[in-house]
Amino acid sequence: MEAIVLNHIVNLTENTSPLTMTTLPDPVPQANEVLVKVSACGVCHTELDEIEGRTPPPHLPIVLGHQVVGCVEARGRNVSAFSIGDRVGIAWIYSACGKCKYCLSGNENLCHNFRATGRDANGGYAQYMTVAANFAYRIPAAFTDVEAAPLLCAGAVGYRSLKLANLKDGQTLGLTGFGAAGHLVLKVARYQYPNSSLFVFARSESERIFAKELGAAWAGDTTDESPIKLDAIIDTTPVWTPIVEALKNLDAGGRLIINAIRKEDFDKDYLTRIDYPSHLWLEKEIKSVANVTRADVSEFLQLAAEIPIKPEVQEYALADANQALFELKARKVRGAKVLRID
Ligand SMILES: [Zn+2]
Ligand SMILES: [Zn+2]
Repeated sequence: MEAIVLNHIVNLTENTSPLTMTTLPDPVPQANEVLVKVSACGVCHTELDEIEGRTPPPHLPIVLGHQVVGCVEARGRNVSAFSIGDRVGIAWIYSACGKCKYCLSGNENLCHNFRATGRDANGGYAQYMTVAANFAYRIPAAFTDVEAAPLLCAGAVGYRSLKLANLKDGQTLGLTGFGAAGHLVLKVARYQYPNSSLFVFARSESERIFAKELGAAWAGDTTDESPIKLDAIIDTTPVWTPIVEALKNLDAGGRLIINAIRKEDFDKDYLTRIDYPSHLWLEKEIKSVANVTRADVSEFLQLAAEIPIKPEVQEYALADANQALFELKARKVRGAKVLRID
């Protein structure tokens, strides 16, 4: 099969083509696995973290990509949940142990043996991949393959971050960062919390205009002060400045949810600007979001079909994955980037 692989950890400002097209043997499904012929794979900021070594794959080369949509082409002898030809999705959670206290309590996202698609196992930047059948999801008919791909990460993790925000309808919600995850969170929040006002903090004017088009009550820069203090803020940025700035905009008892697998270090000294009385005091909370559970992915796919959510997507050929990653790094983002694979 054709695949575009990562061979080395690189600095993307020095090497803008970290991935190489290659031919790999077609993967063969184990007894509990399905072989998926990939048709679309979303491009996620986490790929940048893998390529640049902030969350490095344990083995190289690796096929990246964890927002995978395709059809079941073959199945292992123990698989009965799917038939040949069924359309399925694969998300960031590739597997978990199934036995630990986290797995048994529905927090499999925290499992010490959590394995990630496209990091700990080959992902979807390829014509085929295999996955355990109980870590694959049916894709609702409402979505095309390309539309469904970004729902599997940006959407599902965004949904998890909204769950962790613990919002009640009518409370105010802020979103700092307005890329793929941010715009999907806004759409879910408007549906689940119809009486809540939404405030968006984004660096670029085009993102702010986009946020207002989608129903934000207010949109400003990441360093701006919101017109009122907010009950919860979800951060989907890769950096630190918005964290400090968001804390200043939280109301007493408010909660900041950090939806990022890793943060970049270049603006880390901004954290020294934290002022206890204005940023943390009055019982403000900070909570990070780690990975996703299968329940998050399934629930979100159903919710997205019901709302419905149609993500804004930009399509690229598999061979242009480097270009898509470069543009993501340069924050040329409006909606989500998806590789279309033949
Ligand atoms: Zn992702
Ligand atoms: Zn476990």
